[in-house]
Amino acid sequence: MKKEVFNPFTVVHEQLEACAKILGLNENVYNILKRPMREIHVSLPVKMDDGTMKIFQGFRVQYNNALGPTKGGIRFHPDETIDTVRALAAWMTWKCSLLNLPLGGGKGGVICNPKTMSSGELERLSRAYIAGIWKYIGPEEDIPAPDVYTTPQIMAWMMDEYSKIAQKNQFGVVTGKPLILGGSPGRDEATARGGLYALQEASDELGLDLGYSTVAIQGYGNAGYNAASLAKSLFGCKVIAVSDSKSAIYDKDGLDPEKVQKHKAKTSSVKGFPGAKEISNEELLELKADILVPAALENVITAKNAKNIKAKILVELANGPTSPEADDILFAKGVHVLPDFLCNAGGVTVSYFEMAQNFAMYYWDKEEVDKRLARKMAEAYHSVLHHSKKYSINMRQAAYVVAVGRLAEAMKLRGWV
Ligand code: NAD
Repeated sequence: MKKEVFNPFTVVHEQLEACAKILGLNENVYNILKRPMREIHVSLPVKMDDGTMKIFQGFRVQYNNALGPTKGGIRFHPDETIDTVRALAAWMTWKCSLLNLPLGGGKGGVICNPKTMSSGELERLSRAYIAGIWKYIGPEEDIPAPDVYTTPQIMAWMMDEYSKIAQKNQFGVVTGKPLILGGSPGRDEATARGGLYALQEASDELGLDLGYSTVAIQGYGNAGYNAASLAKSLFGCKVIAVSDSKSAIYDKDGLDPEKVQKHKAKTSSVKGFPGAKEISNEELLELKADILVPAALENVITAKNAKNIKAKILVELANGPTSPEADDILFAKGVHVLPDFLCNAGGVTVSYFEMAQNFAMYYWDKEEVDKRLARKMAEAYHSVLHHSKKYSINMRQAAYVVAVGRLAEAMKLRGWV
């Protein structure tokens, strides 16, 4: 048996190769899409609170801009690697194309552990990162946003640093900003809300009544917490398990997402939530729940545990949670997978709405944002479903076919290939 690969960029290559075969993709298009258009590597000296200086490593990958300026979040994580950033930038490229946004894909990352850093240290690091990459970003060039362990506050510092260098306010240089600084209503919960709109379409397709459905969620940050909260408030789902990097908790009668969030804010973990049973993150994935939501990091569903997944629908809010081998197993088992770059596209879609509002200097209300997001997610879901049925391929391959097909058309029209 072939050894399972966990390098996310190798996974991208495997997925792209499969798509190229299905589409009979032009070789030049394939070769362009196999690698990033541009990579920026920066060393960032930052003064720490104890007077020492630490040098952090940062990356920005601009993967492909055939459809428009590159767009994608910035991660602050101790295990960040250039290949992870490359993979995330590629997935952003497919995602913007799939959602029909006039944007290309990019991603950024800094190797650091924000949990051990003070607010002052994080601010100096965020500003140093922008000072390092400012020449290559901008509202019409490349527009970063939040991702794992980066927040609206961090976006505000980054926007401010860029504006100082540009010597004018440049609110549109990042998205996911606080509302008062040009953020969009609904951006904070957009990734989860978009995923749940896709889930709504999928449950209609499968004839699953969400009001009687159980949900297990891995990760309780921006994507995971909002997914728990909205699954309960929008559809009446019962959230039976949630987790974070320290622990997982289970209650067969259902957890109260808001109370769990308050507990996490107080104790910095979901661990020890009163009345819930403690389980492991691995057990959470294999629970008997109708809907499973990976909302943390990559490679959590693999050939090892895919056969034990009991969920009917996999809502991939995280990027790259499922390995290609696991994909095959889930498809054979009949699990309906909402692939990451479809399912978590609500974040970049509302980021795009934020850019549009920044350019227009005119702001929409949340109802307007949610309505437009619902329409975008439903269109993308049905386009993927249609291609999955047409070619008898799994939902991820179908999403690739739609996204890469559009990129190929754009590159051809631009005369690149
Ligand atoms: P976040 O930093 O707000 O939350 C991450 C959560 O994952 C935290 O609760 C953390 O404790 C948990 N976690 C970390 N390691 C874990 C582990 N080994 N096991 C279980 N839990 C673990 O990040 P986020 O923004 O919610 O992002 C989560 C995922 O969603 C990432 O894959 C990210 O790329 C993806 N995503 C986020 C957005 C967005 O708008 N925030 C958009 C698209 C995709």
